[in-house]
Amino acid sequence: MKFEDYSIASEIKTSLAKLNYRRPTDIQFKSIPPILKGEDVLAIAQTGTGKTAAFAIPIIHQLHVRKIKGRGDGIKCLVMVPTRELAIQIHQVFETLAKHTKVKSYCVFGGVEEEPQIAKLEKGIDILIATPGRMFDLASRGFIRLQRTEILVLDEADHMLDLGFIKDIRDLMTYLPKKKQTLFFSATINEVIKKLAYSLVSNAIRIQISPKNPVARNIDHSVTFIEMDDKRFFLERLIKENPERKILVFVRTQVRCERVEKAMARVDIESKSLHGGMEQDERKKVLDLFRQGEIKVLIATDVSARGIDIPKVEFVVNYDLPELSENYVHRVGRTGRGKEKGQAVTFCSTEEKDILTEIEGFLGQPIKRLEVDREDYSTTIDFSAESHADWKTLMTEHEKETTKSKRKKKK
Ligand code: AMP
Repeated sequence: MKFEDYSIASEIKTSLAKLNYRRPTDIQFKSIPPILKGEDVLAIAQTGTGKTAAFAIPIIHQLHVRKIKGRGDGIKCLVMVPTRELAIQIHQVFETLAKHTKVKSYCVFGGVEEEPQIAKLEKGIDILIATPGRMFDLASRGFIRLQRTEILVLDEADHMLDLGFIKDIRDLMTYLPKKKQTLFFSATINEVIKKLAYSLVSNAIRIQISPKNPVARNIDHSVTFIEMDDKRFFLERLIKENPERKILVFVRTQVRCERVEKAMARVDIESKSLHGGMEQDERKKVLDLFRQGEIKVLIATDVSARGIDIPKVEFVVNYDLPELSENYVHRVGRTGRGKEKGQAVTFCSTEEKDILTEIEGFLGQPIKRLEVDREDYSTTIDFSAESHADWKTLMTEHEKETTKSKRKKKK
């Protein structure tokens, strides 16, 4: 079925056509009809599957056909997200899709000045995308009115719980009217999420089960065994052999982020770090540079990159294995967005083999092995500008030593 055949406003279809979205992705195909009918939905959607549009399209349609006149009674739809980056990104999707309608969306998050946000809210907004902290702050002071909110979306619900937002979610319910439509979107499902979903909504929930393999089919992902100290050489080779490709490298900690950036700089590879320890402005700047392709290599931690949609990431490298198995899915899901093809490779050291087993258990199947034979392994290390530099240094030192001793002998 094509979007043309959906009973959604022609204004939304115009935006979809401009985006070149012809057919719905699986999650959109399954979620749009029940959301349009006003049902509560619990959707388990892999990252990169088009889940934002899966809720944005029917929400914009519902608000559009109602032809809201004044905005005096506050926010009509609230989308709660765990991170600022996600808030910005989801807002962009809403704005793009609602461009030809009169539906207005906006996003608020912490870490930036609140005055411009308040000014914008006072002008009147239909859809608000927000992170919990700033949302509560503004709502408690009356800048966000939720008494007439009709739709609540909890996006990345699993991550919100990981970050300890459960109390916030429950508190939020006290601000919202009892009768409303609730939509849960989560990349993973577990008992806690299920319980939370059932405890928050009274209507029956439609559960959309994701395919058995939580990694999308268009992502070619594999693992290769590389010792910790050699990982940088393999990364260097991969980057140098793919100079035109956008590569997103995941590491475990902020410190590792900076270390890998430095190691790459030593071999003349320009890269940037993205981690939670950076200021919001700095993070945005780095993300924009990467988005625009001005830097080809981004080294990120899980928290900073979760849910971020960066178009045309052609390669994901798990430089370190993720501590949480589900983060494997989020990481490799940064490539192969929508219907594009993507590639991901995991560098697994001997110490990390247990984590790999856990991840494979979570995926329910083994990850393809990319065998590197001994010869290739040492070729990669030789390939490194760093090892060449070391080699050259050694040679020069050796030459100096020999010349010195020859001179001594002559004397
Ligand atoms: P999301 O899972 O919402 O982060 O979306 C992942 C990517 O899929 C984004 O880059 C979207 O632009 C793209 N996308 C979403 N829906 C469609 C569609 N129906 N056809 C093609 N691409 C899509």
